[in-house]
Amino acid sequence: MTESQHESQAIVRMRKLNKHFGSLHVLKNIDLEVMPGEVVVIIGASGSGKSTLIRCINGLEEFQDGHIMVDGKDLLPHGKGAKALQRIRTEVGMVFQQFNLFPHLSVRDNVTLAPLKVRGVTAAQAGESAERLLDRVGIRDQADKYPSQLSGGQQQRVALARALAMEPRLMLFDEPTSALDPEMIGEVLDAMRELAREGMTMIIVTHEMGFAREVADRVIYVHKGEIAEEATPERIFDSPQDERTRGFLARVL
Ligand code: ADP
Ligand code: MG
Repeated sequence: MTESQHESQAIVRMRKLNKHFGSLHVLKNIDLEVMPGEVVVIIGASGSGKSTLIRCINGLEEFQDGHIMVDGKDLLPHGKGAKALQRIRTEVGMVFQQFNLFPHLSVRDNVTLAPLKVRGVTAAQAGESAERLLDRVGIRDQADKYPSQLSGGQQQRVALARALAMEPRLMLFDEPTSALDPEMIGEVLDAMRELAREGMTMIIVTHEMGFAREVADRVIYVHKGEIAEEATPERIFDSPQDERTRGFLARVL
């Protein structure tokens, strides 16, 4: 494969991305490419820029310099490319640390809302698809409840089903288990593992190193807004090359 063929197949391609919050240089010359079906895990200390990095991919953050292509559509500095952004948002699903469910809607209605509004499907189609997705994340029996009646782990699985209802080409996860009680982390990681197995393209920020080792095709270590090291999980966890990666792993493992 030539380099340009390889590039045109990437779902995400980030080139020399720079992002500032005022005088704070949060992302520094980030180059990142994600291929279809790849699972990329981003690790790094708190404040290193991980959230900002993935939020740039679906336009939740503007950047000052560089270029992002998502599924063939260009995002440009200073929020230029608004049309592309609308399309990107319908193709990129995101799950956050806080579940952000609509509290006044039932679980089922949380899942059907966006497809009904944006995809123009019928209520029957949306309802069937919601049942299927809730079944897939193991909470079909909770469809008529409201978010506040569910555990954190169940709420996060609703958030996952809701994102999947848009049939995304890419899923972004920002510390999806960090707000959960320990006994609920496993059920959310299981649902994500299953999604990875089915071939979903995923970019995941997590502190769950065991999970990262198991599901990642590639692990990226971000240090103070820079990609310090990028390699297979085996290589990152067993023989990190960069001193900064070694320091971080010594603190968290
Ligand atoms: P991480 O997700 O790795 O913990 P973030 O991407 O949230 O890091 O933050 C990176 C840096 O940018 C931190 O220093 C943080 O304080 C700063 N930051 C994040 N969001 C904002 C914002 N909206 N305004 C100003 N500074 C911000
Ligand atoms: Mg973060």
